[in-house]
Amino acid sequence: MENTNFYEGKIRIVPKNKEIYALLNLDYYVLQDSTEEINLYIYKDINIDQITSEDVKDYAVSNEISNWSPFILESKQIKIHLNKKKNKGDVIKLQFKYHGKINTLKKYEVNRINEEWVEISLYSPWFPLAEENRKAAFQIRVDIEDGYEVVGQKARKQNGYWIVESDNMVNDCTILASKNFKKRIVRERRMTIKIYNASIEGEKIAEKIEKHLGFIIKTCFDYFGKTNVEEFTIVIAPRSEGGGYCRPGLLVVALEDVDDKNYFKFLSHEISHLWWMGADSSTWEDWLNESFAEYSALLLYKEKYGNAEFERKIEKYRQAVTDCPPIYGLSRSDEKAFLTLYAKGPVILNKLEKKIGSDNFKKLLKELLAKNIKTTDGFFKTVKNMFGEDTAKFMEKELKS
Ligand SMILES: [Zn+2]
Repeated sequence: MENTNFYEGKIRIVPKNKEIYALLNLDYYVLQDSTEEINLYIYKDINIDQITSEDVKDYAVSNEISNWSPFILESKQIKIHLNKKKNKGDVIKLQFKYHGKINTLKKYEVNRINEEWVEISLYSPWFPLAEENRKAAFQIRVDIEDGYEVVGQKARKQNGYWIVESDNMVNDCTILASKNFKKRIVRERRMTIKIYNASIEGEKIAEKIEKHLGFIIKTCFDYFGKTNVEEFTIVIAPRSEGGGYCRPGLLVVALEDVDDKNYFKFLSHEISHLWWMGADSSTWEDWLNESFAEYSALLLYKEKYGNAEFERKIEKYRQAVTDCPPIYGLSRSDEKAFLTLYAKGPVILNKLEKKIGSDNFKKLLKELLAKNIKTTDGFFKTVKNMFGEDTAKFMEKELKS
């Protein structure tokens, strides 16, 4: 992808002091003509020692927590003034030197640096995060005391350091580290999944995941066809608060006590994202990721637990979504956005499956994936080509009501 912001550099993590030291280069691509300033955000307790660039006139780091994102609650602004106007597509090369402590986040508890557990990502932005919800690529050298194992979207050890990389699909670089990782490996078809668990309490969850994964992957391949993803990492974080999150190639889960069947469905949803991804997740078109992943999870649930259980689930979804707004044009800040994408979408897909029949519905899923359809327009066209104008109109009406 051209013009993708790129972070490259080295960080040192000192778990016992809860500290991070960083020397990081950012290639920042300008989004608009006549840009004179750019805003970046970093975790509140990080001290910026220096920003160097031939394009920077001056910069200011706020002392206050910025209220700019619903997900990033403890960051402050770095405002950079450029010494001359830059145009769309221009690159600004910035070098940052900074250090500071990263303590447990108050509300979600997802991020921290301490001796037992290191978990840093955009929730406590340890790197200067661009204001727009923008995709970036990362290549970071991580220096941490011997005995710690580092895990990320892609992490490997090289000459005594860890290299953490992430491709350009996401605006995050998650780095996890523990001295106590226990590793399990599941191989199914051509896919390898590594499960890392960092606590005694996590063993039960690791067992549950290991037990279900083979079936889930096998069934996904049967339903969806092949995928380019060959490796996936699941990390069971040693914390009960804060929940989990998913990045391409990486799923982080918490120590949550979820019953076996619902855990199966949760895992099925996350694993099916290895197929259902790539539609713009910052807009309502995210339904092509989320509604399809959730309905796929329900189809796997049906394979595993039978039709009666499946119908009971779908009926619950139907009852929950009666006053949800339309998916088409949905605002991500709508208070029912989550329910609309994760429950109303699957209810609509279930209607479509009933209308065209299960075999045809499976053919449609395979076709959407084979053709790499990432927009609702493309979805309508595919439905029309396969099942005619009426079916496409039916779906348009469902998505717009
Ligand atoms: Zn999802």
